[in-house]
Amino acid sequence: MSADKPNARRPVPMLERDTHGYWEHLRRHELVIQRCSQCKTYRHHPRPMCPECHSLDFEWARMSGRGVVYTYAIVDHLLHPFWAGKTPYNVVLVELEEGVRIVSNLVDCPNDLIRIGMPVTVVWEDVSEEISLPMFKPETA
Ligand SMILES: [Zn+2]
Repeated sequence: MSADKPNARRPVPMLERDTHGYWEHLRRHELVIQRCSQCKTYRHHPRPMCPECHSLDFEWARMSGRGVVYTYAIVDHLLHPFWAGKTPYNVVLVELEEGVRIVSNLVDCPNDLIRIGMPVTVVWEDVSEEISLPMFKPETA
């Protein structure tokens, strides 16, 4: 892998049968999580079967977009050419108000000010016609 490709494209998820609906909502800037229609257990990432009751039925539950930093890491190593010139960058695990944890990045916040438990809210990064990524920024009062 070469670090001399500053214009490399951001890696994006592949739309698959179980994840297409998720990304379709995100494209419209609607943060949703798959929820079992039978026992109401959230499941993330989207997958065909409920781990609790084995139902194949599900709905897309709209999230508030608010949560807290559950934990985070600062990445110093260049793991993909897209991040050339962007290291160190953060990766955060956000626990949504609804209790689901999702991996993202925290924006509009210097890495040294990130704290576990800090309130955050979703913002959107439109990567392509098909893909919008849910990013998070510190929530202001
Ligand atoms: Zn279930």
